[in-house]
Amino acid sequence: MNAPQTPHALHFMPSAGFRARSKEVVDNPFLRQSFRGAMDFLMSKRAAQFPDPVELETLRTLGEQIRQYNLGKLPELLVQLESNLTRNGIQVHWAETPEEANQIILGLCQKHSAKLMVKGKSMVSEEIELNHAAEAAGIDALESDMGEYIVQLAHEKPSHIIMPAIHKTKEQIAKLFHENVPGVEYTDNVDALIQIGRNVLREKFLEADVGLSGVNFAVAETGTLCLVENEGNGRMCTTAPAVHIAITGIEKIVEKLDHIPPLYSLLTRSATGQNISTYFNMISGPRKAGEKDGPQEVHLVLLDNGRTQAYADEQLRKTLQCIRCGACMNHCPVYTRIGGHAYGTTYPGPIGKIISPHMLGLEATATMATASSLCGACGEVCPVKIPIPELLMRLREESFSAPHENPTMRGQGAGYNATVSAIWRGWAWVYRSPALYRLATWLGSRFNWLMPSKQGPWTSVRVPLKPAPKRLRDMLKERA
Ligand code: SF4
Repeated sequence: MNAPQTPHALHFMPSAGFRARSKEVVDNPFLRQSFRGAMDFLMSKRAAQFPDPVELETLRTLGEQIRQYNLGKLPELLVQLESNLTRNGIQVHWAETPEEANQIILGLCQKHSAKLMVKGKSMVSEEIELNHAAEAAGIDALESDMGEYIVQLAHEKPSHIIMPAIHKTKEQIAKLFHENVPGVEYTDNVDALIQIGRNVLREKFLEADVGLSGVNFAVAETGTLCLVENEGNGRMCTTAPAVHIAITGIEKIVEKLDHIPPLYSLLTRSATGQNISTYFNMISGPRKAGEKDGPQEVHLVLLDNGRTQAYADEQLRKTLQCIRCGACMNHCPVYTRIGGHAYGTTYPGPIGKIISPHMLGLEATATMATASSLCGACGEVCPVKIPIPELLMRLREESFSAPHENPTMRGQGAGYNATVSAIWRGWAWVYRSPALYRLATWLGSRFNWLMPSKQGPWTSVRVPLKPAPKRLRDMLKERA
């Protein structure tokens, strides 16, 4: 499992537009208000699930230990998982890059002459931009999770990993359905809107040739794929079509079934403030002889896409503990103000900032780690205790330190600037010597008129920085 060296071509790159996209949201009071309301709602639901801080801390420690234990054994668990899945009749495919994953999935679709694929919620399928690839191959990929269906109708990307359409109001959804679903009258009644979506999708489950799903936990000892969901669409995708293809990152593995209950409890309570999800699916193979339903073929695609790069470094490996609950996003003062689309990555918010550099390289994501106040809220709520602020500091260091041979991360040093670095080195040198420091402050106070009036982004909203005309030591001397 080597870290991918070649950046793949994504259609939705973070690049330089982050500041402009963020400003657009910050300047839109309506969007800000609706994000704030949604995040407050999710935060209070989570808080209500964990009234006892001692229980919460004990469970988080257990969650952390389980994830670290399983990551510690990842190579051997992957071998065990493949062997037990194969024994159960599930075909396993390995993909190093998004392109390879798309080729595998679309190859399977073409083998079965598939025209329609129904998709359950899968952030990994967003990560590989499967819908784009399917469209190019002439295959209809229809999202069946209600939030994903809404963003697909709007030709958008999810703005939250758990609530993809959280940026949309019911009026916007009503308009979208009215304009895009044949024969639908405008209604902003939420129950009616859900019913409209259900009616459209139910037909499609029966028509679809292939069903695609994500995986929340893959159990190595039994060869079982577990799927957590609330709408029942995951169960439909994985049982109604003749072929089921599951896709997941290589890190979603646990050794034992016993590891799941604590992680499951942390996931649902942290994500949506639910004690337990409506459905918990355990997939252990295709339809057997004599069984009346279930897919005839089940496939699992295991994706790397930079995960082995994170895995190779003991500190960065903690990124892979993530169970994708979204709690760090809901509590992040940056995410709650700018929403998910501003980031320009599949995974926004704190988790996006620490995982995206491994997927896309630091060249494309160098500034993401700096878009944080380092308040620590993300690390405090993370149910598996990922030290997100520490990882952000590490990524800043990797991005902005001088490029060197054999870097840990693709794109190391991408944000490095020789002039800025020289200024900081000079600053450190002056501060180490009291005599030099006195001289520098004396020169600064006498020649403060030399300071430029334009000082980059600083002066776009602030007055220019200028040393005081008199040093503190001079003022104290005068008073003495
Ligand atoms: S980093 Fe932690 S809080 Fe954020 S999505 Fe992952 S598990 Fe949840």
